[in-house]
Order: sequence, then structure tokens, then C-alpha cells
Amino acid sequence: MTGLRKAIIRGGLEGLYFSGVHLALKPFVAGVGAILTLHHVRPPRLDRFQPNRLLEVTPDFLAGVLKLLRRADVDLVSLDEMHRRLSERDFARRFVCLTFDEGYRDLYSYAWPILKAARAPFAIYVATSFADRLGELWWLALEAVIARNSRIAIEIDGRNETFDCATPAEKLALYDELYWWLRSRPTDDEVRAIVRNLAACYCVDIAAFCKELCMGWDELAALAADPLVTIGAHTVNHPMLAKVPAETARREMDLSRSVIEAALGARPAHLAYPVGDPASAGPREFAIAAELGFKTAVTTRPGVLFPVHREHLTALPRISLNGEYQQLRYVRVLLSGAATAVWNGFRRLEAA
Ligand SMILES: [Zn+2]
Repeated sequence: MTGLRKAIIRGGLEGLYFSGVHLALKPFVAGVGAILTLHHVRPPRLDRFQPNRLLEVTPDFLAGVLKLLRRADVDLVSLDEMHRRLSERDFARRFVCLTFDEGYRDLYSYAWPILKAARAPFAIYVATSFADRLGELWWLALEAVIARNSRIAIEIDGRNETFDCATPAEKLALYDELYWWLRSRPTDDEVRAIVRNLAACYCVDIAAFCKELCMGWDELAALAADPLVTIGAHTVNHPMLAKVPAETARREMDLSRSVIEAALGARPAHLAYPVGDPASAGPREFAIAAELGFKTAVTTRPGVLFPVHREHLTALPRISLNGEYQQLRYVRVLLSGAATAVWNGFRRLEAA
């Protein structure tokens, strides 16, 4: 996300909160429920260069969010129960689903005890190559290359370019530039080839991030045995599905479900599209997920749920708890639906 877009979001959330507009809009934009997206839950780190900090919240913040939700008298429900309520139009009470992408190990050590204590159901979307220790967390490899070097050479559009990245400010700026340039590559293969090459040049072991940060099958099995936990599919290799051929997209979704079933004994009925923005998951992916029989599939398009989403169960929006804005007042504004309504121009459905 660009700095400008971040500023708009932050300004928007603050503005909506302090003006009280989110309360005035609530009857019109609050919807029937919401799905929250989280990634890492771990204590804060002191490093000045943390370009992926938006993907983590602290254990205290998670505990605060759970308290806020309980006090707001919304039901915390599983994905199956959300599916039932949407399908049967049971909108007597507002509901929230908690979802965690990737299957990071800090979920096991930090988040699980907090969620258990709050008796909060939650879902983990597992990319099976991560649990198999073979996945490429390319955004972390890029971070490591920039963190460990003060100058980087990279081929961009056929030209060899060199970038200085000695200071934390230069590192952040370079990460932002390269990350969004990579995200704009037309194919997922291209992104991987570029980052693999960069990692090899600068002696960064991409596979190490999986081993260090992601849960293995033993840890996932322990979580899966908890009745609070739903294990969802998140593909095998975590590609931007809209940037791979249709057959590959189908195989990624289907195979991840079979691998999880073989490893954990239960077949996932729910899916999250990797990355999940419109450039990574669109109508073709929504149709494939429905054909494959997934009960629900979630994007990262921002939004709360409305009754109309029962007709678009494989294109559900979510609300990301962004680690850069760990204030409960932001969560109140987000759950009011006001921020995402403004973001979406007051359209309730973004499934095209
Ligand atoms: Zn993911």
C-alpha cells in the first residue's frame, strides 16, 4: 500500500471517529456481520525497518479487540456458523468471524491461549507448502535482502538498477517501491523468479522463513483438535491466483484441500485467496472456488457483510486489523462499516 493510501486510511479512521460520523452512518452501513483478517500476533519488536509491520498485532491488542467485541454484544462465530446465518438469513444478531492467514507459529504460542481464554472460535487459512517447509514467503525474503545490505542491484525492465539503502528511511522507501513493483508484475512466476534471484545474489535463504515462522503439521494438528478452530485452505504455493493459468488456479485450491485432509483428517470447506486483492482474485477465481464446492471463500477486499453476500459466498470481503493502527477506536470505526463504506463509495457488494 502506498504511503498516500495509508495516510488516507489513517486520516479517514481518525476523522470518522472524532467526528462521530461512524455512529451516524451505522444504521446504513453496519451490515449483518464482519470477518476480521489477522496474520502475526506477537510482542512488538524495536527494529526501525519493519515494512511488514502492518501484518502483525500484539497479544495485548488482540485481547483488547476480543474484549471490545464481547462488550459490543456481537456473536463470535465459526465460518460454518457464518455460512449458516448467511444462507438461512438468520440476522437476529450481528456476528464476527476471526481469521488468521498463513499459519504463523506465533498464532500457536501467543494468540491461541488468548482466544481460548475468550472462548472465541477462529479460523486458520493454511498454505500447505508453508507447513511443508517448502513455501516462499517472498515478501520476507525481500525485507531481509534490504535489511542486510546498504546497496542493492536489481534488473528492472531489462536494465540493471542500483539502489542505496543504508538508512532505515532509505530501506523503507526501497521496500515500498520494490514490493509494489513486484505486486504489479503480470505473472506470479515472474515475482518468484525475481525474488529467488535477488535472494540468491544476497545469500538470503528463502526456505528459512517457513521453518522459522510457520507452523508445521504437528502444531497444526494440535490446533485442529480444538473445537474452537476451523482449518481453511489457502492454496499450496500461495500464488496470486488471477496471475496464473486457470488450471493452475484450480489445482492450487483443490490440492491444498486434499493435502490438509491427508495431514489433519478433515477436509476444509472454506478458502482464502492468497493476497486477496482484486489483482489476485477476481470473478474467475470466485467461480472456480464455487465449482470446487467450497462453502465460503474470502478476499482481502475491505468491507462488512450484508444479506446480499449470501449470493456471493466465494467472494466475501474482510476487515484487516492492520498492525500500524493498533487502536481500539479504529476497530470500532471499522466494525461500524463506515470506513469501508466510504472506501467502497457506499457500494455494498464488490464482487466484480
Ligand atoms: Zn496469505
